[in-house]
Amino acid sequence: MHTVVIGGGVIGLTSAYHLARAGETVTVIDQRDTGQGASDVNAGWVVPAESAPVPGPGVVLQSLKWMTRPDSPLYIKPSLKPDFISFMLGMFRASNAKSQRAGFAAHLALAEDSVHLFDDYRADGINYELHHQGLLMAFTDKELMHHHLGYVDLTKRYGLSPESLVGDAVREHEPLLNDSVEGGLYFPKELHLDPGGFAAAMRAKLVDLGVDVVEHAAIDAAQINDGRILSVSSGNRVFAGDRFLLAAGAWSGELSRIFGANLPIRSGKGYCVEVAPFGLRGATNLHDAKVATTPLSDRFRLAGTMEFGGLDEKINQVRVDAILRAPGQYFRDWEPPAKAEIKPRAGMRPMSPDGLAIIGRLPRLSNGFVSTGHGMLGVTLAPATARVVTDLIRDGHESPLLAPFSPARFRGGR
Ligand SMILES: Cc1cc2nc3c(=O)[nH]c(=O)nc-3n(C[C@H](O)[C@H](O)[C@H](O)COP(=O)(O)OP(=O)(O)OC[C@H]3O[C@@H](n4cnc5c(N)ncnc54)[C@H](O)[C@@H]3O)c2cc1C
Repeated sequence: MHTVVIGGGVIGLTSAYHLARAGETVTVIDQRDTGQGASDVNAGWVVPAESAPVPGPGVVLQSLKWMTRPDSPLYIKPSLKPDFISFMLGMFRASNAKSQRAGFAAHLALAEDSVHLFDDYRADGINYELHHQGLLMAFTDKELMHHHLGYVDLTKRYGLSPESLVGDAVREHEPLLNDSVEGGLYFPKELHLDPGGFAAAMRAKLVDLGVDVVEHAAIDAAQINDGRILSVSSGNRVFAGDRFLLAAGAWSGELSRIFGANLPIRSGKGYCVEVAPFGLRGATNLHDAKVATTPLSDRFRLAGTMEFGGLDEKINQVRVDAILRAPGQYFRDWEPPAKAEIKPRAGMRPMSPDGLAIIGRLPRLSNGFVSTGHGMLGVTLAPATARVVTDLIRDGHESPLLAPFSPARFRGGR
């Protein structure tokens, strides 16, 4: 059988890999080169421990306060469009402790597989930079640290065994931290990788496996007959197949309409900048500043900011400057680089109102599937998602892990 995957980001590429490994004929189609945008500029963290959904207690209030600050880490561009209002209402409804905890548990259960699968990929000859150095969450605000300690029971249940590092213990763990850091939580099993390198290596493997990787073809229509997708097309180029997977990241909301759905996906733009290596022991979350730091073999990556807005990858220099200032609050000896040396890049996270991915069958179509809305966790969840999606597409097997992610929880997915 032949599956056509629309979107060559980390979700589409890993899905194509698992499908091809399971014996499926696969075509991956992207509107530009594969592995760009969010799949390239992300922090490269594989961090089930950080997988609490974005909506949580106080998030809406905090974001309203931040809307007036041009350098804030979270920004929501107001709009009176019905889709925007309905998205925000959904986010507001999910912004409570009970929903956040349930979503966190759903992510932890789904992500359990991911950590091992990243090793399996390397063992299968997918050659990319992968580090097993854990993740440190560093806090300058004790209250925020206590909020996270409230989730330790959950992370322990999924075998993540966090270490709590209060006061100087956090500096013994990471000597580059300064005295304003009050403490940290260290998760030894988390990984980090080079995102662009991973996407490129995965693409090369797909080609080796005989997957047809079609680039610079923006899908703009679907040919459907009697509840069955026959083909999708880009202008006059037609791609026929037996099954179709929509994995177009932040574009998936708009694109879902060609399949008769209306999935509530909005873009959450973020930025990354890279500087010379900084000598950190491992990936470190500058929690209060909401900046992710990632030591790679030949550079140091900083990533952050969540701007809910339109579909664009324009750079807002004020927010980039805020990302570059953040390490100064946490590290000794941090020298922000000269502006001329910095080449910021942007990418759009596919965000859903309740902060959970949308994975499952497209409504009213016997051979249409979707995997999107992975928000801040697309890298973390990609391998595990790809595995369950492959079972769903090939055998119709709907893993119980997928229940919280069903498209049918939204009106536009029914
Ligand atoms: C700053 C930042 C930091 C992040 N850090 C992390 C992290 O550390 N860990 C983590 O787990 N996640 C992280 N994320 C989130 C992660 O990057 C995303 O969740 C992930 O990239 C989403 O992957 P995707 O394949 O769904 O979407 P994308 O990567 O956006 O891929 C979708 C693809 O679909 C293509 N497409 C769109 N429309 C069409 C069309 N009409 N026809 C054909 N192709 C189309 C696009 O060109 C694109 O290549 C971060 C994101 C950002 C922005």
